[in-house]
Amino acid sequence: MDVATPVRTDALVDTFGRVGRDLRVSLTDHCNLRCTYCMPAEGLDWMAKPQMLTDDELLRVVGVFVSLGITQVRLTGGEPLLRRGLPDIVAGIAALDPSPRIAMTSNGVGLARTAQALADAGLTRVNISLDTTDRLTFKALTRRDRLDDVVAGLAAAAHAGLTPVKVNAVAMRGINDAQAPDLLAWCLERGYELRFIEQMPLDAQHGWHRESMVTADEIRERLGERFTLTPVPGRGSAPAERFLVDGGPATVGIIASVTAPFCGACDRVRLTADGMVRNCLFARGELDLRGPLRDGADDAELVRLIRGEMWRKRRGHGIGDPDFTQPARPMSSIGG
Ligand code: SAM
Ligand code: SF4
Repeated sequence: MDVATPVRTDALVDTFGRVGRDLRVSLTDHCNLRCTYCMPAEGLDWMAKPQMLTDDELLRVVGVFVSLGITQVRLTGGEPLLRRGLPDIVAGIAALDPSPRIAMTSNGVGLARTAQALADAGLTRVNISLDTTDRLTFKALTRRDRLDDVVAGLAAAAHAGLTPVKVNAVAMRGINDAQAPDLLAWCLERGYELRFIEQMPLDAQHGWHRESMVTADEIRERLGERFTLTPVPGRGSAPAERFLVDGGPATVGIIASVTAPFCGACDRVRLTADGMVRNCLFARGELDLRGPLRDGADDAELVRLIRGEMWRKRRGHGIGDPDFTQPARPMSSIGG
């Protein structure tokens, strides 16, 4: 929890005193890439349209969350840019009172066409996933030859003022980990803020092994071979540990979700495209809001249900625990 921010008496709290402020909304589980750490080559059994919340249902639920003190809404997926009418959804969220900050995590494919419309609708920031700038490695990692589209999407985001443009990268051993300094140099040249994220056990194939995961320490060492990294003090509740690169002002972030979890400061809650609330990426259960919503529940009932789900939030993700089990839903369906 950010100590500088006063806690509303009606805030979305859990039993450990953490306050939910950041709502991650998955707009679709569909995707146009097939990142190996996320989904299999053949894709997944995508959600059918009637299963998914309509735009009106989605806006109503986000509105209820905002009434509970959510101040940031991050649109994600699957690939959020594949959701039809995305600028209208952004505008609908921006029109809520109070208006939350709206961010998006995207693979950037197609963003070149939509960045300006999204910014005009009220989107303020983007995180674009890019693990490598080497064409062959990109193709191997995402199983698609779309590097140019992502690069164009990043440029369009910067041009539309969706800044600071952040780049998310997952380092995979023997595939792109040795390229980490090249990716940092590429981002520095363009003014993008790079953040590495440790690979988590959230792939649909259940192929994650802790032993083969590239750790935050290893990434730091790799980057240290070419750059001087100095820790930026005052991390607060931010998941990324940030470092000044060669004395700054540019920084690079490393998110050690597995080796140094930040669950104690977690302020997130998630809504899936089919209307389930998840209090953690690794939650074993989830709350069905779609059913009550379609059965005519009023806002007070939705508030009661959401509060109850937050109350069930566990202390931590428990990836290192002997009884850890990977969630049945993959990252692409939960919303990263
Ligand atoms: N499709 C969009 C994208 O790739 O940015 C949004 C959804 S994606 C699930 C959100 C983020 O999760 C991306 O930055 C992606 O790299 C990351 N991600 C996916 N699977 C992951 C895994 N197993 N471990 C760590 N991060 C993962
Ligand atoms: Fe798609 Fe994002 Fe998963 Fe890659 S990480 S397959 S872009 S949802």
